[in-house]
Amino acid sequence: MTKYIFITGGVVSSLGKGILAASLGRLLVSKGYKVSIQKFDPYINVDPGTMSPFQHGEVFVCDDGAETDLDLGHYERFINTDLSQINNVTSGSVYQTVINKERRGEYLGATVQMIPHITGEIKSRLIQATKKDNPDILIAEIGGTIGDIESLPFIEAIRQFRTEIGHGNSMSIHVTLLPYLPTSGELKTKPSQHSVNVLRSYGIQPEMLVLRTQVPIGKNEKDKLALFCSVNKDCVIECKDMNTIYEVPIYLENQGITKEILKILNLEDREAKLADWEELIYAIKHPKKEATIGLVGKYTELNDAYISVVESLKHAGFKNSAKINIKWIASDNITTYKEAEEILSDVDGILVPGGFGTRGIEGKLKVIKYARENNVPYLGLCLGMQCAVIEFARNVAGLNNANSTEFDKTTEYKVVDLMEEQKNILGYGATMRLGSYPCKITPNTKAHQAYQADIINERHRHRFEFNNEYKEILTQKGLVISGTSPDGLLAEIVEIPKNDWFVACQFHPEFKSRPQNPHPLFLGFIDAVLNQK
Ligand code: GLN
Repeated sequence: MTKYIFITGGVVSSLGKGILAASLGRLLVSKGYKVSIQKFDPYINVDPGTMSPFQHGEVFVCDDGAETDLDLGHYERFINTDLSQINNVTSGSVYQTVINKERRGEYLGATVQMIPHITGEIKSRLIQATKKDNPDILIAEIGGTIGDIESLPFIEAIRQFRTEIGHGNSMSIHVTLLPYLPTSGELKTKPSQHSVNVLRSYGIQPEMLVLRTQVPIGKNEKDKLALFCSVNKDCVIECKDMNTIYEVPIYLENQGITKEILKILNLEDREAKLADWEELIYAIKHPKKEATIGLVGKYTELNDAYISVVESLKHAGFKNSAKINIKWIASDNITTYKEAEEILSDVDGILVPGGFGTRGIEGKLKVIKYARENNVPYLGLCLGMQCAVIEFARNVAGLNNANSTEFDKTTEYKVVDLMEEQKNILGYGATMRLGSYPCKITPNTKAHQAYQADIINERHRHRFEFNNEYKEILTQKGLVISGTSPDGLLAEIVEIPKNDWFVACQFHPEFKSRPQNPHPLFLGFIDAVLNQK
């Protein structure tokens, strides 16, 4: 029978509940348990796919094409498992299911209500996630902060669910913040006490507290919280700010967190096999080299917008004992080639990630021209490939003002155009080319060298594509198409062989990189960067 861990947060948002869920997952896996993780997001959007990255950070894409919360990226990276649509539940998707059922007459005669219908659907999602992966332990993270109106149905569903599955089969972990007052040198416990009181008022007594803090928590504060919140003293766990998120599992385990969890869940404690994770931390903490990558995008004010890209760069760095620094460059600040030259003069590699819309495109094209002409290693992801094609068409193939029809519908040279299957689609939600598709790699290319494989599978999220009408002229001028869909019709990877590393792909390799298994294209890119240094 699956056991359940429910993680809620209090006092403030952005406490790192996702990293905590992922870290617990990692630790329980290291003790030989099969773990799955599910995120519940209280917003009404059916999925985050229609939200601006400024609102909610990156949209993480799973193999099955689910557009999900960025926490799923942490989960996949920490527990090294591919997740899917059922691992991300939103209020919007719950309401949508219930309202569709009502319209089909499935509740005929009944008044459809928050309890039991919405809460029932939430519980059914827990069961669906359990049935899909059949884990020993399912960790469910509830987004938002305790006390929010939005998350109430989720909390109520958990309360019911916990009662239904019986004592000893689930636990509640509440994550809060202990604010530090530098003037008096004190950590304050009161906001956490109040937050636990609110959780209890909903019928949930947490078995464990995880406390985010800037400074170590003294025994006094821990004992006080244990007493006021009715939590066992050994279950008051400190979670200090760490230099790297990958250190969090070890930091928690050093306090015996999984021993306590397994006791509460009536599961046997086992030896944690963490040697490989400790090796990873050692590599992270003892870099022998350093390199700076210019990350050129339009959402650079919010680093979370590119979180998987940043993590993937770091993973490739770990493997090379190299520290990767990111220089964030807002593409709309670059209006001339000279500005691009200046801003890029101190970077060792350039990455243009995915994106949507016209803002910042001309800046990206100047950056790519700089990378191409100066043989600076370049990695383009999705929009970063489309822009590389546009730049090459304009400045190498002489197709003046070549463009993507996403940015200029009237351009004479539509080198990037809407995919055929996209032309009749009207709505925006979950309608892109999404999820994992196979790609055939051309022998004797940088891509082939990197992957060491003829067929690979990568995750996609786009509407536009390389226009094959320009294949001949662009390839004659030296662009190589090094990856295509198996039928040869969609260009998936392009490269410029003349350069040390100029590779751009239509898919999103960043969603498949893992700390202990960096993605081949990121490795190839970072290798080239370090070789040039
Ligand atoms: N806007 C482009 C498209 O829809 C690129 C998408 C992306 O970078 N994810 O094709």
